[in-house]
Amino acid sequence: MLVIGAGAAGLSAATRLVEAGLTVTVLEARDRVGGRTWTREIDGAMLEIGGQWVSPDQEALLETLDRLGLETFARYREGESIYVDREGQRHRYTGEIFPAGAETEAEIERLIGILDELAPEVGATAPWAHPRAAEFDAISWHHWLRTQSDDESACEIVSIYVAEAMLTKPAHSFSLLQALLMAASAGGFANLVDEDFILDRRVVGGMQQVSLRLAEQLGDAVVLNAPVRRLEHAAEGVVAHADGDVVVRAKRAVVAVPPNLYARIDFQPPLPRLHQQMHQHVSLGLVIKVHAVYDSPFWREDGLSGTVFAPHSPVHEVYDNTNHEDDKGTLVAFVSDLQADASFKLGPDAQRAAILEQLAACFGPRALEPEVFYLSDWGAEEWTRGAYAASFDIGGLSRYGAMQREPLGPLHWACSDIAAEGYQHVDGAIRRGWAAADEIIHALGD
Ligand code: FAD
Repeated sequence: MLVIGAGAAGLSAATRLVEAGLTVTVLEARDRVGGRTWTREIDGAMLEIGGQWVSPDQEALLETLDRLGLETFARYREGESIYVDREGQRHRYTGEIFPAGAETEAEIERLIGILDELAPEVGATAPWAHPRAAEFDAISWHHWLRTQSDDESACEIVSIYVAEAMLTKPAHSFSLLQALLMAASAGGFANLVDEDFILDRRVVGGMQQVSLRLAEQLGDAVVLNAPVRRLEHAAEGVVAHADGDVVVRAKRAVVAVPPNLYARIDFQPPLPRLHQQMHQHVSLGLVIKVHAVYDSPFWREDGLSGTVFAPHSPVHEVYDNTNHEDDKGTLVAFVSDLQADASFKLGPDAQRAAILEQLAACFGPRALEPEVFYLSDWGAEEWTRGAYAASFDIGGLSRYGAMQREPLGPLHWACSDIAAEGYQHVDGAIRRGWAAADEIIHALGD
């Protein structure tokens, strides 16, 4: 069997196929495994450049961590968080909902209640099959919220949990249906709001360990620096042509790359017209993940958790991202979608200064002088092109969603971007990897 892509999805698929007694080759474009999980040492600091957090409902990831002997640790969350309002005023608070004023807080709770009824109704498995799917897919997340509430602040805050924080796209560019899929895939909208749930734990040694260990078990089956350029497919099997004159023949292939990259592969014969269309309606969001490492987690001395919500500012979220048993203190900050575009336009020095000034406004002048400062640049990564993951444009999910996981002859599809539970997360990547492998195992058994 052939697996294209050595991210969590591809390596999970390969592992399951090998466990079923099949011979597998994994072709990976990069010189490393892990895809959108990448634990790097930068100037002596261990940083999680990509996916890192684990939430309690992510059973496939938790099972994998267990099987690989990997341990987790809780995100630091003691003390008060900071909410930065529209006027730039900082407010310290505890609990889930920002101190946005009693009326707005009540309105936020009401909107979350509506969404928590709709999300399970729509579900993560087949949102396109909901009787109101076309209607929910025809209105943007931004506009739907304003049909539900006149409280602009409440709308903006609720919007963030899906737009800036998850899909990393402007709220006007995706639909209510897409937002409900995101919420349902995480077990409900309230879970997206609760950072103690969604950003619960991290992996000791880094999330990339999942892929590194799976790849280690697969040994020589994983071939790096081998981007697949051409994939011939027919009922009797596939032939993949990758860089380095690598040619792999197999009965079936798992294409474990994000859908925005399908067009980088020359499928022969070309994929059917509806697939060609579908792939043009799905795209990755964009977020800059910023790490600032200090000689100690000094904000804790001031009774602060390190958590900041600043819905109207370039950096919209900050968390304490200190490594397990590390004396250094690390903050991780996020700059999403339109703000990310603007941030990159500033150029490196001004970009760094603007982000650090925002951290200093919350944590004091010590924040201006990190020992290590690093900005992720996933949009520039040839084999990803964005962060965190892919979603449909308005109308795309109801129109094409049902096709995205359907095998096409010997081709099977796996990646977090087409997952149901764990959608856009490492957990979803593993689930889709396992599901694609099971499709193959069942097909061979027939
Ligand atoms: P990928 O990891 O993208 O793997 C696809 C692989 O295919 C890559 O290795 C790529 O190089 C390879 N490839 C592409 N094209 C070809 C080709 N033609 N030939 C051969 N190989 C090819 N998730 C969480 O659960 N928690 C988080 O906290 C979290 N935070 C994130 C933060 C950032 C900054 C980013 C970028 C992502 C984050 N995610 C998080 C999302 C999570 O990392 C991804 O959803 C998940 O890792 C995707 O795994 P995958 O295997 O589906 O795809």
